[in-house]
Amino acid sequence: MIVFDHVSKIYPNGTVGLDDVNLTIQDGEFVAIIGRSGAGKSTLLRAVNRMHDISKGTLTVNDTNVSGLRGKALRHFRREIGMVFQSFNLVSRTTVIRNVLSARVPEMPFWRVLLGAFRKEDKITALESLDKVGILDKAYIRADQLSGGQQQRVALARTLAQKPKIILADEPVAALDPVTAKQVMEDFVRINKEMGISILLNIHHVELAIEYADRIIGIRAGKIVYDGPSKEVDQAV
Ligand code: ADP
Ligand code: ADP
Repeated sequence: MIVFDHVSKIYPNGTVGLDDVNLTIQDGEFVAIIGRSGAGKSTLLRAVNRMHDISKGTLTVNDTNVSGLRGKALRHFRREIGMVFQSFNLVSRTTVIRNVLSARVPEMPFWRVLLGAFRKEDKITALESLDKVGILDKAYIRADQLSGGQQQRVALARTLAQKPKIILADEPVAALDPVTAKQVMEDFVRINKEMGISILLNIHHVELAIEYADRIIGIRAGKIVYDGPSKEVDQAV
C-alpha cells in the first residue's frame, strides 16, 4: 500500500513539483497517472522509491515511512520496487539474459554477471521472467538487436526478476509505436492481474490509460485534479 499524506515536493530552485498530495493506492491496483508535461508525474513516482526526498507531509510505502530510510534499509526497500523507464536503460552490447540477471544480483558487480558468475537459481528466475513477457526465445540475443517493444519487455523482465511488490513505470510506452505500445500495456495488465503486482504508471496517452488501467489519477501543477475509475474519466476531465 502506498499512502501520500499531505505530501509536497519543492525543488531546491523553488519549483513546486507536488502540492499537498493525498492519495492511497492499495496492493494489486493498476493506476495510470495522466497529466501534461511538467504536471508532476515523474516527481510523484520518484518520491515513491525515494529517488528523491519529499519536502512536506508523510509518504508511507508498505507500512514504511520512506523518508526515514537510510543505507541498507533503503537498498532493501528499493529491491521491492521495480522501475521501468521510457528509454529502457539496457546494457546494449550484452545479451538479454545478462541484462535480466543484473537485476537479480544487484549486490554483484556487473562484470561478474558479464563473466557468467551467477547462481543457477538466478538464471532460472531470469528465464522465467523472460517467459512472462513472451520473449524467452530472445534470451541469448544481444539487447541492441531487438526492436523497441522487445527491449521494453526485457526491461520489464529485468524488473520482474527482482520479484517486486510494486512496479513504477515512467512513460514506458512513450518511445514505442502505437501497436507496440498496446502490446506492452497488455504485458503490464498481465503482470498486474496474474502476479498481483501493483502497477503505478505515468502516461501522457489518455486513451491508453483509459483502455488498460483500472484507476486514473490526473495531475496538474503538482495537484491531484482527478482520481477515479478509468472508465469515467471522460466525463470528469
Ligand atoms: P512530468 O513528469 O509530469 O512531466 P515533472 O514531475 O518532471 O513533470 O515536473 C514537475 C515540475 O517540477 C515541472 O515544473 C518541472 O520543471 C519541475 N522539476 C522537475 N525536476 C526538477 C528538478 N530536478 N529541479 C527543479 N525543478 C524540477
Ligand atoms: P515488434 O513486433 O516488437 O515491433 P519489429 O517488427 O520491430 O518487432 O521487429 C521484428 C523482428 O526484427 C524482431 O524479431 C526483431 O528481433 C528484429 N529486429 C528489429 N530491429 C532489429 C535490429 N535493429 N537488428 C536486428 N534485428 C532487429
